[in-house]
Amino acid sequence: MSEASTGTGGRMRVINPATGELLVELPLAGTEETDEAVARSVEAGPVWRAVAPADRARLLRRFATGVEEHAEELARLETANVGKPIADSRDEIAMVAEVLHFYAGAVDKHRGDTVPVAGGVDLTFHEPLGVVAAIVPWNFPAAIASWKIGPALATGNTVVVKPSELTPLTALRLRDLALEAGVPPGVLEVVVGSGPVAGARLVEHPDVAKVAFTGSTAVGRTVMAAAAATIKRVTLELGGKSANIVFADADLERAADAAPAGVFGNAGQDCCARSRMLVERPVWDRFLDLLGDSVARWRVGDPTDPRTQMGPLVSTDRQAVVGSFLGSGMGDPGGGDVVPRFVGQVPAGPGAWFPPTVVAPADPTWRVAREEIFGPVAVVIPFDGEEDAVRLANDTTYGLAGSIWTRDGARALRMARAVDAGNLSVNSNGSVRVQTSFGGRRQSGFGRELGLEALAAYTEVKNVFVSTA
Ligand code: NDP
Repeated sequence: MSEASTGTGGRMRVINPATGELLVELPLAGTEETDEAVARSVEAGPVWRAVAPADRARLLRRFATGVEEHAEELARLETANVGKPIADSRDEIAMVAEVLHFYAGAVDKHRGDTVPVAGGVDLTFHEPLGVVAAIVPWNFPAAIASWKIGPALATGNTVVVKPSELTPLTALRLRDLALEAGVPPGVLEVVVGSGPVAGARLVEHPDVAKVAFTGSTAVGRTVMAAAAATIKRVTLELGGKSANIVFADADLERAADAAPAGVFGNAGQDCCARSRMLVERPVWDRFLDLLGDSVARWRVGDPTDPRTQMGPLVSTDRQAVVGSFLGSGMGDPGGGDVVPRFVGQVPAGPGAWFPPTVVAPADPTWRVAREEIFGPVAVVIPFDGEEDAVRLANDTTYGLAGSIWTRDGARALRMARAVDAGNLSVNSNGSVRVQTSFGGRRQSGFGRELGLEALAAYTEVKNVFVSTA
């Protein structure tokens, strides 16, 4: 890693969470280095906007190709830094390239309108915002960075990425690959610094036009408040407590087989984790039997093994946080005992390991059933009929994702319309595709990433009236 050796924000020891091994020590940017990155980004703005659309698209495609050519290196870096299974990292790096290809294709297709008006001609332009700060969490560092970089660069903005200080390695490599592809210097900057210092500075900086934030609802709230001072544009992709709703008429084997990946994928550190399973009462016993089997089959272990389905948590600090939801007396507010029904495998030895854990039945008022845990812990709650399922699914402050398992097509559509969340899937737990929009409702945030919808989040409409009088 060839980073400068000093940083006014201190230093960061970047750790492999599966082994506790030190990967690299990096300087952390303070306010000064953050301001310098913003200044380079401002300067690069006119250069980037002067690149002809077809050439900008070509540069993004070349960047995407560079990611493909270095895919294995990037995947190994992500696995070492986040502890995620190598199979997941390979998929996520492939997605980074696909995102860049997709938005390369959009560069010259995000067109304005001509509007019928009296007395002249009226035109609209989709203009870039300027400098975009992309604040990214540690759970999908490369993928989430690309969701912001792709549409922002395609529409003519310059970008300063602030990865989580825990997981900065792939963002730094992506910046280098952009430069190698011929993207002009300053167009894609990466600031490695802490949230409260570098992140907060980006949010308050008068030359940053927009903050694209992904992270916790608590920090999202402070970002939104701080952005108000400069009337900055903000999109927020925040937490979730998504429901996985299994009706009695569903293909129970398929639903149970898919359930572990839906909540334990990425060790549960996924804002879309289906951490509340709602199961219709007549099939409660049968579904729980099947779920117990599929949890037992879920392979936890060495993230570098391509067969591994779940690695450790991102840091040992997170073990205590996740564990705090379980145990006797933890059924707040009543103080009931939160005793797991199923606990999966977990390797012995160093590393931030936490076993896949299922609490069933859980009381919907318990903390474990209400708060985002961001670890491999699921609750199962029984329901009686469609109305009850909608009531329980919407009994949360969040609204990010959810699944509906049923063989009744009309019910699937009724449920999909009634559940108050941004991304729903029927007979599947998948939420994220490059071509389709992704984002939350309620306190899961606002604004959409991915799909053609993301282009609107990085542009503003300018209206021009030309008199023909
Ligand atoms: P945080 O909200 O703590 O951090 C997210 C990012 O914000 C990090 O880069 C962090 O930097 C930065 N940050 C922290 N404090 C500030 C601040 N005051 N001003 C500006 N930036 C700041 O979340 P976690 O990293 O802990 O991620 C887990 C959370 O994120 C979960 O609760 C999850 O729900 C949510 N999340 C939501 C997603 C979505 O798409 N909706 C996707 C992924 C996660 P640093 O880490 O360096 O301090």
